[in-house]
Amino acid sequence: MSGGPGARSPHDLASPTRLTIDLGAVVRNWRTLARFAPASECAAVVKADAYGMGAARVSAALGEAGCRTFFVATVAEGAALRGTLHEAIIYVLNGVLEGWERGLIDAGLRPVISTPRQAELWMRTRSGRTSPCALHIDTGMNRLGLSREALAALDLARLRPALLMSHLACADEPGNPKNEPQRAAFVAARDLLPDTPASLVNSAGIFLGVPYQFDMIRPGIALYGGRPSPACSVAIEAVATFEARIVQIRHVSAGEAIGYGAARILDRASRVAVIAAGYADGYLRAAGSSDAREGAKAFIAGRAVPVLGRVSMDLTALDITDLAEDSVREGDWVELVGAHASVDEVAKAAGTIGYEILCGIGRRAERIYVGA
Ligand SMILES: *Cc1c(COP(=O)(O)O)cnc(C)c1O
Repeated sequence: MSGGPGARSPHDLASPTRLTIDLGAVVRNWRTLARFAPASECAAVVKADAYGMGAARVSAALGEAGCRTFFVATVAEGAALRGTLHEAIIYVLNGVLEGWERGLIDAGLRPVISTPRQAELWMRTRSGRTSPCALHIDTGMNRLGLSREALAALDLARLRPALLMSHLACADEPGNPKNEPQRAAFVAARDLLPDTPASLVNSAGIFLGVPYQFDMIRPGIALYGGRPSPACSVAIEAVATFEARIVQIRHVSAGEAIGYGAARILDRASRVAVIAAGYADGYLRAAGSSDAREGAKAFIAGRAVPVLGRVSMDLTALDITDLAEDSVREGDWVELVGAHASVDEVAKAAGTIGYEILCGIGRRAERIYVGA
């Protein structure tokens, strides 16, 4: 079958960028998190195509490892996942709006309901028997979720939610004073549904400790190799290796400038490797350098090669002056994100978070799966 996971198109074979995804590392990260919360079910958040890693392959690997519950953002993501995960429980975080009911029912998906109107809609969808759903309670993030009063006003006996959940706004800051009041508000809301399984935390929240873990934890980023929190006390393995090929190597004299805007003037005679990846591939423009600021670092054979000047749409210049002359050649692969260029370091250099780096890795990179 063409186009299926693992299929190679001629386009892939000539791609100057590749994204290698270590499914073994995803599974080991999932097991590590599950061990850290032994009394809770460890679900997996695979929205946005598993943060760009490929939801079908990632979920199949996790399903084989014993993961039973998955979260996606949209009905379309859930329906696609149902094609490979026949038995799993799949929750749709965006809930249910008019027009989505059929897609949810047909694929056996469970909406995460956040408003009284959604609850009404879901109870009406199949007259008589309400299909399973989750209820999202807002405990202070003020994004999605029912207030405690709105929860109390629902026909809970009829809706019979299978999961009660909420989400922390500041879980990645262990000392943040918002965490404990959110937990307390969640515990209070639970009084109304004492027998319903409860879930509060994402990857970072797991490390706030047992009182936060409840019946189910919902990691996303930590499965994919992001370090979720300064409090994370377990080893999270890198999953994504994003690489690009060198298309030109040049010598540039001191005092010359590199790239658009001549933003970076060389203070020494330099050797420059130009790689075939840029912001169209998700290597953010903000990762570039100028005379005023340092940029991100790529790696060749484990050695750092800093970005020189602005990142273009399809090209980026790297400083390879400090590498032995004959150790780098046209056509060689350079690591932009991976074991050396950690997703969190690259994100920091570009003024963003690892989530945005992973989700943004371009579609034109060939996807290679290892460790399955
Ligand atoms: C995205 C998301 C998660 C996963 O968050 P990470 O920080 O990636 O672990 C968990 N719960 C909800 C409601 C989410 O939207």
